[in-house]
Amino acid sequence: MIMAKKKEEKKEYTLEDLPGVGSATAEKLRDAGYTDLIELAVASPKDLADIAGIGEGAAQKIIAAARKYANVGQFETGDVIYERRKKMTKLTTASKNFDELLGGGLESQSITELFGEFGSGKTQIVHQLAVNVQLPVDKGGLDGHVIFIDTENTFRPERIAQMAEALGLNPEEVLKKIHVARAFNSHHQMLMVDKAMELAKEYPVRLLIVDSLTAHFRAEYVGRGSLAERQQLLNRHMHDLLRFADINNAVVAVTNQVSSKPDMFYGDPTTPIGGNIVAHNATYRLYIRKSRGNKRIVRLIDSPALPDGEVVINITTEGIRDP
Ligand code: ADP
Ligand code: MG
Repeated sequence: MIMAKKKEEKKEYTLEDLPGVGSATAEKLRDAGYTDLIELAVASPKDLADIAGIGEGAAQKIIAAARKYANVGQFETGDVIYERRKKMTKLTTASKNFDELLGGGLESQSITELFGEFGSGKTQIVHQLAVNVQLPVDKGGLDGHVIFIDTENTFRPERIAQMAEALGLNPEEVLKKIHVARAFNSHHQMLMVDKAMELAKEYPVRLLIVDSLTAHFRAEYVGRGSLAERQQLLNRHMHDLLRFADINNAVVAVTNQVSSKPDMFYGDPTTPIGGNIVAHNATYRLYIRKSRGNKRIVRLIDSPALPDGEVVINITTEGIRDP
């Protein structure tokens, strides 16, 4: 809340406001992923000099000015953080086993990443969450609206209706509380988080879904030369998502593919896209694997406070259920 208010009161500076940055340099910087002042404020002078084709002295001046103008954030005392964490809630998955794996469900104020190969059930799970979040709190819901950023055109209202009916909810009412936006490329996708922040002032949004988090980034930034830029943008995107989760006490659920070709940093044949940037920004990482028939294995990986573990779920007509 505090951060959102601050932002409104403050003049928004752009790259062009910085000393020695004309439109040509600004464009170069934006192309390199330095799209706002905070990214420049934390850049290294050498990287910046290389990318913008300027001297290191000039780069240092830009960075110093960016530090002055950027909204770098502020310190919070422990009691404020404690108050916020006390409001943290859990969203049910509709499977008791799955909920237990997560210590009660998906946590608000966090990012939960679902990764797995094509057809593993990631989109099914986020559809289920979009319904569940509308349940009353005593039924494991958060009594809230949903924002669904759809990058692969796989949102299906018919599927929502099936899942809603199975839980005794009115499908039409449920669909009215799901705000869906297609994102046509990675920049559009990032912009939609700003829009989501606006929408959350109007509706009690308690769940933000990005399905898929990484597909556009992966398709657009191919080859070694663009990796750094892709990672930088993904990092910023995930920070925006986390900020959304904090400010709205919302659950953020994102999906991610695994690559059969090794992505950066990992040599594992089934490694999630986005390397350590996605890994470090997701509070909970779930690896979904196909099993026999409609069974899926869900594995919790690297959680800060929960033991690693595995459960089996079923994908049925009604939605996600215990076997
Ligand atoms: P991902 O998003 O990981 O690529 P999906 O979530 O799209 O995978 O999962 C697709 C799978 O979900 C299908 O192969 C099927 O097994 C299951 N599924 C989809 N719709 C239904 C349904 N109406 N009833 C039962 N199972 C379904
Ligand atoms: Mg999918």
